[in-house]
Amino acid sequence: MLLRPEEKAWREERQALIRRCEESEKRPDFIDEEKIRAVLREKANPGRTEVEEVLAKAGELRGLTLEEAAVIVNIRDPELWEAVFAAALWIKQRVYGNRIVLFAPLYISSPCVNSCLYCGFRHGNTAVTRRTLSDEELEREVRVLTAQGHKRLLVVYGEHPASDIHFMCRTITRIYETRDGRGEIRRVNVNAPPLTVEEYRRLKEVGIGTFQVFQETYHRETYRRVHPPHTLKGSYRWRLFALHRAQEAGIDDVAIGVLFGLYDWRFEVLGLICHALDLEKEFGVGPHTISFPRLEPALGTPFATRSPYRVSDADFKKVVAVLRCAVPYTGMILTCRERPDFRRELLRLGVSQTDAGSRIAVGGYSELEREHIPDREQFRLNDTRSLEEFIFELCSDGYLPSFCTSCYRAARTGCGFMELAKKGLIKNFCIPNAVLTFKEYLLDYAAPRTRAAGERVIAEYMARYREEQPGGAGRLKALLRRVEAGERDLRF
Ligand code: SAM
Ligand code: SF4
Repeated sequence: MLLRPEEKAWREERQALIRRCEESEKRPDFIDEEKIRAVLREKANPGRTEVEEVLAKAGELRGLTLEEAAVIVNIRDPELWEAVFAAALWIKQRVYGNRIVLFAPLYISSPCVNSCLYCGFRHGNTAVTRRTLSDEELEREVRVLTAQGHKRLLVVYGEHPASDIHFMCRTITRIYETRDGRGEIRRVNVNAPPLTVEEYRRLKEVGIGTFQVFQETYHRETYRRVHPPHTLKGSYRWRLFALHRAQEAGIDDVAIGVLFGLYDWRFEVLGLICHALDLEKEFGVGPHTISFPRLEPALGTPFATRSPYRVSDADFKKVVAVLRCAVPYTGMILTCRERPDFRRELLRLGVSQTDAGSRIAVGGYSELEREHIPDREQFRLNDTRSLEEFIFELCSDGYLPSFCTSCYRAARTGCGFMELAKKGLIKNFCIPNAVLTFKEYLLDYAAPRTRAAGERVIAEYMARYREEQPGGAGRLKALLRRVEAGERDLRF
């Protein structure tokens, strides 16, 4: 299917802009494929002592070098893998405590001029109906989400003239303005195509939280194969430095990710680590979060089920645990792509954020009772449980659900956030803010069984907090009383 003349003209204009920016990009590529392959070869078959030394360093929250990470991705002994899983959980608890931050994805537009082989929204996939939300439809979606208790969104856009930078700024502003009683969105994170420095500056002005760009694969040949070269996404380098440009524009919470299943997972894990190290080297700030979406079936998209590199559950657990050990300060995002039972397992491997109650069809929240609308979705979700149901499970498993958005609003972003996270001090904010925002949820939105389970969780945390931080506990108790009396949005 050919692009319409106005889509073609927009793509050509954008392509020329990308070429100009690429020509002025002087940074050397930080993905050295030969080096990654060599490190993986050199560290094949690591011994127990070597693994234990690497895990001991990970336990000091110092992060891992490429060589150290290669030692653990190459483990063969199942017993040693159990040690890695235990280390990952320990590190997550040490940095963030037992809280899990919750958010919802909000798909705003699906038309796209790109042709990514794995994606249901790719141009030319006639099995999927395209839609861009009108202002009224957007508002309706936001109201459904805030009525469930959500405070944090991840908005998602296709790459298309109908969802350009003007559209992004307008829709994000509209989301922040949509208020309904106590319902409000306090942080909008963005997953969108790479932008120019100037465009990022405009997004910063409308007050976005994190900007995410997933490289999808760090392996150049695979990148070329799944992103046709004549498309905008076809430029590897434009995407590779997308978040460096965001940092230049002052967006200092940036997020990286790989679509696992396109190429060898061990190579991709090391690619993510190279990316994190390069951001840290240049800006003093690594990725605020790392995402690890796994390839899922999508309508009219045979590649999604045929890729020879699809990652098994057993290997996917390793991906999550190694990343947590290697980049201890980062937020690790699990999504509803994964099945409920498996999500429960993955949560124990160092995950710190996840979505819940998600619908990914454009306009899907306004038709909440339909779990799937395949002809409007980018791929298929495996967990469509409600936010309430998921929170109940979290409480039963002893986690502290959190709707916190306070760091970004208290200007604890970029270096300020990293300093605290690296020293394991950020949880001194995370835990009390989780308690305060979860309390709001229990009072304003929870059904009786979840309220009862949630109050038990809060009581346990308060008791523990009193022992660990007697000073903070008094302040938290006073703030909790104010929330009970009707005040909202109080924070540490
Ligand atoms: N269009 C923007 C872009 O490509 O950068 C926004 C991203 S896209 C809407 C969100 C992410 O979904 C992609 O970056 C990709 O990692 C993931 N994705 C695409 N197709 C998928 C599939 N079949 N299964 C799982 N995740 C998929
Ligand atoms: Fe478009 Fe993004 Fe899908 Fe590629 S992954 S076809 S860029 S929506």
